[in-house]
Amino acid sequence: MKLIDLHTHSTASDGTLPPAQVAEAAAQAGLAAVALTDHDTTEGLAEFRAAATPGGPELVPGVELSVDRPGGGSMHLVGLWVDPAEPCLAQGLERVQTARVERNPKIVARLQELGVDITLDEVVAAAGGGQVGRPHFAQVLVDKGVVAGPGEAFGRFLKRGAPAYMEKERLTPGQAMELIRGAGGVSVLAHPGLLELHPAVLEQLVKDLKDQGLMGLEAYYSEHNPSQERRLLDMAARLDLVVSGGSDFHGHNKPGIRLGAGQGTLRVPATILTGLKQARDALG
Ligand SMILES: [Zn+2]
Ligand SMILES: [Zn+2]
Repeated sequence: MKLIDLHTHSTASDGTLPPAQVAEAAAQAGLAAVALTDHDTTEGLAEFRAAATPGGPELVPGVELSVDRPGGGSMHLVGLWVDPAEPCLAQGLERVQTARVERNPKIVARLQELGVDITLDEVVAAAGGGQVGRPHFAQVLVDKGVVAGPGEAFGRFLKRGAPAYMEKERLTPGQAMELIRGAGGVSVLAHPGLLELHPAVLEQLVKDLKDQGLMGLEAYYSEHNPSQERRLLDMAARLDLVVSGGSDFHGHNKPGIRLGAGQGTLRVPATILTGLKQARDALG
């Protein structure tokens, strides 16, 4: 059986392999296709697609967008076969990146108001050149002895509802699916099992998303157990959605997850490409 992997990350977001090396690793793993789906960016796609080789895996340009989850928090949508040159998608991603960059100074200002001696430079240094996030704020608070550990940093300051929490500005699911569709891509709900919803609640969410343009479900996923996978395949069939699947490979940032194999038991059959491509071509 030929295998594929339609969910991977490179150094363009939080993976450790450059985009071209993701393509090379897929060739070495004997995969028939691989999609690069970096978080909220298409910046790796040019390098990724340039790494195509005759007889090598089919390279699918993709993206993974964080969107508002009904009831609070976030969830992820994967877009497959997006055109990175499409201007609405490019502008939408730029807005998301700007909002992310603007969030960190707001958290610093709030902490300063609360009497904590902290600067943005310290937090940026803690991130070591990577994307700055709340764990880096927690680390600085621990290093300065403001709190005893990261748990206290989140509890007193950083968690949702705590005084230095700043809501992330995210796309709504409808906005994200419109951007993906506008760029010629197929929208897929990423790792539905990680939402930890009762099956009936998940099914209602998926129906609502389908009304807004959802085309597929990521039934095959590294952290789905066999019964979750079965239920999601059944749900996709019931709701007339196509099936996708991937490992969520991040290189050394997720050492337990191998490209195309997940934790060792993931098998995403290449046959699902047919349905995904029909969905793509139906977009016209
Ligand atoms: Zn995700
Ligand atoms: Zn991912």
